[in-house]
Amino acid sequence: MKLFSILLTSIFCSAVALAQQTPQSLADAELPSLLPIYKDIHSHPELSGHEERTATLVAKELRATGCQVTEHLGKYQDSKFKPHGVVGVMKNGDGPTVLVRTDMDALPVHEETGLPYASTVTTNNDEGKEVPVMHACGHDAHMSMFIGVARSLAKLKDQWHGTILFVAQPAEETGNGARALLSAGLYEKFGKPDFALGFHDKADMQIGHVGVTEGYTYANVDSVDVTLRGVGGHGAYPHKTKDPIVLAAEMINAWQTIASRENNPLDPIVITVGSIHGGTKHNIIPDEVKMQLTVRTYKADTRDRVLAAIERIAKGIAVAAGIPAERAPIVSVAKDQFTPATYNNPELTKRLVAMWKKSLGDENVEIVDPTMGGEDFSEYSLPDHSIPAVDFHVGAVDPAKIAEYKQARKELPSLHSSKFAPVPEPTIRTGIVAMTAAVLELMKN
Ligand SMILES: [Zn+2]
Ligand SMILES: [Zn+2]
Repeated sequence: MKLFSILLTSIFCSAVALAQQTPQSLADAELPSLLPIYKDIHSHPELSGHEERTATLVAKELRATGCQVTEHLGKYQDSKFKPHGVVGVMKNGDGPTVLVRTDMDALPVHEETGLPYASTVTTNNDEGKEVPVMHACGHDAHMSMFIGVARSLAKLKDQWHGTILFVAQPAEETGNGARALLSAGLYEKFGKPDFALGFHDKADMQIGHVGVTEGYTYANVDSVDVTLRGVGGHGAYPHKTKDPIVLAAEMINAWQTIASRENNPLDPIVITVGSIHGGTKHNIIPDEVKMQLTVRTYKADTRDRVLAAIERIAKGIAVAAGIPAERAPIVSVAKDQFTPATYNNPELTKRLVAMWKKSLGDENVEIVDPTMGGEDFSEYSLPDHSIPAVDFHVGAVDPAKIAEYKQARKELPSLHSSKFAPVPEPTIRTGIVAMTAAVLELMKN
């Protein structure tokens, strides 16, 4: 009788345990074992294209959830980058295919968070220069969430059907990691997904919140190099030269009129000259000036028009200054560094927002303004956005800290700052819950 009642109790308990398994309860259960993983990844950051240790760790964790794991995926144009992409396939009968993506790379930043698990790592970058390395963009948090999501969905197989592609992507910061995976046949080898989902921590959003933008959320990112060639000479005899420094100054200002005079103000663009180099000494007019621009747009036709205008203005100013045709400015757009705009499918975004409001609470879901930042998650939805995709934000900051900074009229440490430190537990927890719930929404029985 006693044995029978123990048996009954244990059947009852496991039934209750099964019934209680939710994204929330699973996230809570996984957090204690995910935090050491988070801290381990945080203190061992690796630069883009060199995510060897990180990828091995993620692959091992995916394998432990029952995924079929492929490592060393990626095809880069830059041979210095090693293929460290990881794909874990979790199959559970017939149903849609959903891609879940994390990024893995860190940045050449000297960590100044003062955390006990702060990075002290330095490495040689691809130019052979010693640089510090830090997870200053929170990709370590994304990986911890990603592992938590895989573990949760492995335990929730009674609630979904289909195939999940867990994609751990290298080289997000350099904008070529997603393209390297697609070039290596990601969709040919593992199937084209019906939906693609990504997440990113947000350095000015409170913990417990998720945020999302409908439609364009990140911009097209183009890197443009301009070499402006003049005729050098003595600084005291400018009339015997064609001064490329004065021409560069004119060009920089004229390019800003693309935004203010040539472009529809309701279609945002940004042209930033981030680097200008020319000359060696006070009294020498140099032969050339080199400039590096970042150009941000949303729409494909706007992008084409803005890039053409940059070249047209550069060449026009050179002609006006009497620079001979054979010394015309050289304007080149770095095709291998292009990151397409990230477009959150409106229908999918609405569906996820409605679901998150129910599962996380209305007050924890924010509609966020788009930015002119870049994110190569866009690649997974393909150039025509034919694969519905959503990249959402996960709050990472203590609300008391947000209030303190607001009162002091100070800016919070942004992503990529040496002082950026997400609050690990609640950030990772919310990421796991929101992503697990999103996958269940798309694959539920
Ligand atoms: Zn970043
Ligand atoms: Zn990032």
